[in-house]
Amino acid sequence: MTHTYTPTNPVWCSGCGHYGVKGAMEHALAALGIQPHETMLLTGIGCSGSVQNNIKAYGYHSMHGRVLPTATGAAIANPDLTVIAAGGDGDGYAIGAGHLVHAFKRNPSVLYVLMNNAVYGLTKGQDSPTSGSTAGTEVDAPVDGITLGLSISGTTFLARGFTRKADQLNRLMVQALEHVRAKKGFAFLEVLSPCVTYNDTFPDWDARLYDVDADPDYSPHDRGAAFVKTVSLSDEDKIASGLIYHGERPCFEAEWLAYESNLAQLDAHDPRNHRDELDALMDRHRM
Ligand code: SF4
Repeated sequence: MTHTYTPTNPVWCSGCGHYGVKGAMEHALAALGIQPHETMLLTGIGCSGSVQNNIKAYGYHSMHGRVLPTATGAAIANPDLTVIAAGGDGDGYAIGAGHLVHAFKRNPSVLYVLMNNAVYGLTKGQDSPTSGSTAGTEVDAPVDGITLGLSISGTTFLARGFTRKADQLNRLMVQALEHVRAKKGFAFLEVLSPCVTYNDTFPDWDARLYDVDADPDYSPHDRGAAFVKTVSLSDEDKIASGLIYHGERPCFEAEWLAYESNLAQLDAHDPRNHRDELDALMDRHRM
């Protein structure tokens, strides 16, 4: 019997940015002709994580903060799959931050869509790692995942979109999926996706966005210049958006397969697999 999965409708609040992320994912999958049976969408915990129920693909709802090692395993186990991981800023920049650092280092062919709304929406509005200064104290600086990615030399694709800029977000989602489909490694796409119920950042982010795609002097292939630009924009209270960095490096699966092949060669030299030759060698040296 063949079972066909019918995605459910989203349960997000009216006006939530996540609708735009879902739309951009669907647009990119359709634009590149990627079929549901060729796609696996894994998600973390939070409002963002429920997008896994709304896209027609293989799906897996991972533990909190653990979406990236799970997605990396899926990419290794079946290189024919297009693997997409998605989650929020609480999931990816707090409990999952260590896994993000190692995904940047390893470069697995996984698209990671981090839906940043600078708040824990599902649990009703606590500060998240990107919330900025904590109300009343102003001592808590926000995490910047793009600058973090630029600081790790193995990263190959870093971009930031905004759900209010649908054309650019659609384009970035397609570019990120192309990177992953070409087995060029980890594509990190942070999407500014406001939580209209607990932290409506639409007007603030609209005013502070700086689109590097529209800057003729900006090159996404120069890591050092990208770092300087994003940090200086941050110092001016601006937020860099667009394709921030695009580089080249072998993907994790290629390295892993080479490692596996080395293991197989070691296995071929395992003395237990050459008992007769070993006995003959020992005989030659017997007194
Ligand atoms: Fe979206 Fe916020 Fe509502 Fe969650 S609580 S669905 S993040 S608007």
